Amino acid sequence: RIYRAFHDRPSLSKLLLVSTVSGGGIVAFSDTTPFRVAYADSAQGQCPKKKVVVLGTGWAATSFLKNLKNSSYEVEVVSPRNYFAFTPLLPSVTNGTVEARSIVEPIRNIVNKKGPHCEYREAECYKIDAEKKKIYCQTTQASNLGGKEEFAIDYDYLIIAVGARANTFNTPGVEENTHFLKEVEDAQKIRQTVIDCFERASLPSLSEEERKRILHFVVVGGGPTGVEFAAELHDFAIEDLAQLYPEVKNLVKITLLEAGDHILNMFDKRITAFAEQKFQREDINIKTGSMVVKVAEKEISTKERGTGHVVSIPYGMAVWSTGIGTRPFIMEFMKQIGQTNRRAIATDEWLRVDGCDTIYALGDCATINQRRVMEDIAAIFSKADKSGTGKLTIQDAKEVVADICERYPQVELYLKKKNMKNFVDLLKHSDSEMQTLKLDIELFKLALSEVDSQMKNLPATAQVAAQQGEYLADCFNRMDMCEKNPEGPLRFRASGRHRFHPFRYKHFGQFAPLGGEQTAAELPGDWVSIGRSTQWLWYSVYASKLVSWRTRVLVISDWGRRFIFGRDSSRI
Ligand code: FAD
Repeated sequence: RIYRAFHDRPSLSKLLLVSTVSGGGIVAFSDTTPFRVAYADSAQGQCPKKKVVVLGTGWAATSFLKNLKNSSYEVEVVSPRNYFAFTPLLPSVTNGTVEARSIVEPIRNIVNKKGPHCEYREAECYKIDAEKKKIYCQTTQASNLGGKEEFAIDYDYLIIAVGARANTFNTPGVEENTHFLKEVEDAQKIRQTVIDCFERASLPSLSEEERKRILHFVVVGGGPTGVEFAAELHDFAIEDLAQLYPEVKNLVKITLLEAGDHILNMFDKRITAFAEQKFQREDINIKTGSMVVKVAEKEISTKERGTGHVVSIPYGMAVWSTGIGTRPFIMEFMKQIGQTNRRAIATDEWLRVDGCDTIYALGDCATINQRRVMEDIAAIFSKADKSGTGKLTIQDAKEVVADICERYPQVELYLKKKNMKNFVDLLKHSDSEMQTLKLDIELFKLALSEVDSQMKNLPATAQVAAQQGEYLADCFNRMDMCEKNPEGPLRFRASGRHRFHPFRYKHFGQFAPLGGEQTAAELPGDWVSIGRSTQWLWYSVYASKLVSWRTRVLVISDWGRRFIFGRDSSRI
């Protein structure tokens, strides 16, 4: 049996590890080799198929599955959810703009297309044993499969794409009294509860004060999801429910609580300002500097940063949308592999879990190890400082910036956000006069050290998860090509090697729907677009991104139905 390993890091000189031992021996691999291929001795026939186990059926896992073209793997998908959900449209499900079934795609539609070597198991993984290469699974109560069945699965490669759970920051009462907006079931429950609130507030036995409380909707968290939900709820209340419940329509109040200074603080300042003004005009009450410290059945307690006082807010329904946390079994796994005190599994830039050769993690449950990124940036500096004087010529500095920004788009995004665009532009477009100037590397480092301390991991978005799934599938597909062409696939033979570039995220912009047929968008190239035309852009982009023609037709017809007949307020 012959094993081959290959590995390509752009910063290193090209390296191909080919080690051979005949007679069934095993060859040691380089520790840094992110992808490996096993070869069969032609005399002994075919090597058994490598078993790839995929955990999850969300953005990352589905993108991996859809892009995996290779039939030389045996694939087993494990997830408690037997469908893929198009999460960007979840807020639209909370008010019936779009029906829940329109945004989901049965995972078996995708798995079955992969052929007989791809299987799906409706269960959740509760333990990963990296040493024995085994995962332990159980059916869940929610899945209605009757009883709690347990089983174990061996793997050669494990792909962890289990996403994240809502983060409560251990705030008392949140789990019991608020709604999360993570899953399709959450959105359906919110829709029912909103209608319940209106029906209950219409009962004749209630006092005015009680009606007001019941119709007070509180959204905790001023991020994109919280803001979009508040906007959708406002539209539902004004456009549809106000006509159906005229006697209580004036009692409806929507409050958005945000611990920071502004809502949508990850967006361009122009978008934040536009959203805040729009919400003010529409009587959506934004309370910034308000940290929720406790949630009781009918009251939310907040600590006001300005005064330090704790304030009680009576409410009828609350939605908690303050970011994401780690799933308990992932925390256990991280402990097992020595990754403690982290929010997500640390991987290298090839998405391989640090310290585990055959496990990959992607999507919301993973993060590319920043230490490595900063080490890489430091190495680029040192390499550019050929004279060793600590000063770079403008030409060198331009190259350094371009290199860093190309490898790490989040650096460029961060510099832009910090209004350091001119700094980058200066380096990128300086005229010939400037070539004589020297840029002090220390100043440059100082500027980027701020990036170091502030630069967060890639955002936890569907865009990142889907790109990671596609990238990893491509690597797995090419492992097979390498197996078939030991000297490297045809188009790479010239250099005699097979290439795996590290994962690079391409940012295509982001939307913030603000209700009333208006959307804000941050587009590539530092463009900001706000208004009705952007809403149409939002419709077209999301319609095109839906995973199948079935869901596309369903969602577009839901939008049409809403335009013609309004939203349905029946509680079913
Ligand atoms: P997920 O898509 O969450 O999938 C995780 C999968 O793992 C699920 O199938 C789950 O059932 C499964 N799983 C869970 N536990 C286990 C277990 N123990 N064993 C096996 N499987 C398990 N991003 C954008 O880019 N644009 C948007 O407009 C946008 N809007 C959003 C709106 C809402 C309301 C929400 C909640 C998110 C939104 N996001 C958006 C973020 C985006 O949905 C996530 O970043 C994305 O879903 C992450 O993909 P993932 O594959 O890592 O996880």
